[in-house]
Amino acid sequence: MVIDVKKLKINGKTESNFDFQFELEENILLLPDAYIDGPVQVTGAIELHEDDCYVDGEINCKIVGKCARCLEEAIYHFNEEFSVKYVRSNPDPEAFEYVYKSGIIDLRQAVSEIISLNEPLIIYCKENCKGLCPVCGCNLNEKDCGCKY
Ligand SMILES: [Zn+2]
Ligand SMILES: [Zn+2]
Repeated sequence: MVIDVKKLKINGKTESNFDFQFELEENILLLPDAYIDGPVQVTGAIELHEDDCYVDGEINCKIVGKCARCLEEAIYHFNEEFSVKYVRSNPDPEAFEYVYKSGIIDLRQAVSEIISLNEPLIIYCKENCKGLCPVCGCNLNEKDCGCKY
């Protein structure tokens, strides 16, 4: 999850591709009863302009939670493109701007923040989930209870 900017510079490179898979240590999701299942995949490219580093990439991971309608398990494939900038120092960082130290960029914080900012507010087990019957509470995907409501 780290990009060694120092090494890129030593090798005379100004750009490089990356492909990381990592596990988040803590659950960053606000969505109730939801968690990220398996690794978070982050792919992209970095471009150096002197000491400023521009990172463009894509985050993919699987969010497992509860369907908002029927409360059964729901799976959401999170996919988000991002662009962030890393600078050596900045007393007043802008949005999506991070400071890196000792020539090392650690994408973990940026990736966690981008997931938090873009996580779904509700997820469904399937697009046309029928939900629960408000009268008897049965799962209307599984049976037609015939209640009048
Ligand atoms: Zn459902
Ligand atoms: Zn019913």
